[in-house]
Amino acid sequence: MARSEHVIGHTVLGRPIEAVRFEPAGYAKPRPPALLFGAIHGDEAVTQLMLERLADELIERPPGRETWIIPCLNVDGTLAGTRNNANDVDLNRNFASKSWGTLRRPGYNPGAAPEDQPETKALVALIEHLQPHRIIAAHATYKMINWDGCGEPLAKEMSERCGYPVAHDMGYPTPGSFGTKYGVELGLEVITLESPYLLPDENAWLEMRSALRWCVDLPD
Ligand SMILES: [Zn+2]
Repeated sequence: MARSEHVIGHTVLGRPIEAVRFEPAGYAKPRPPALLFGAIHGDEAVTQLMLERLADELIERPPGRETWIIPCLNVDGTLAGTRNNANDVDLNRNFASKSWGTLRRPGYNPGAAPEDQPETKALVALIEHLQPHRIIAAHATYKMINWDGCGEPLAKEMSERCGYPVAHDMGYPTPGSFGTKYGVELGLEVITLESPYLLPDENAWLEMRSALRWCVDLPD
């Protein structure tokens, strides 16, 4: 089936975490899969909108590589309008990087142990199963294409298509972040996309549309 829906885990409050998989177009040469996820921070619902729009377009035209999209990872936080999950953990500080837990600031609770949160576990398990090479983490509300690992060429291609500046350094330490584990430490092609929009806004999608299609090898 060209498109299939999957539940990759459940949140703290037992809600399903949904992913959608798209098979590549028949002509595509084999490439490692791409994974895109949004709303790891529940107060960044604009990222869910953007990835849902991309998924809608992939129904009409398949991507050039196997693509997995998780529009909303932090379902509980998104429904509550909170950055953190229902345990008040910042999921983007919960990953098992070497730096996990080395910095504790109010509001950025990394959890009691690395990857102890069900939302983190679900994403980590999917990545272990899928072995993607290219991973896009969508955030708000800076305006930049941040890269880790071997993501610089892709970040530049995306920047050309959306006009957002490329940044390698977020400007502050992010121990236990997704980009630190999978980009800095494991060397994958990791993009942390920051949309300048706070609220779900179609313009956020329209500005990123071409760059996101590029990520999944779908020509404009
Ligand atoms: Zn964020």
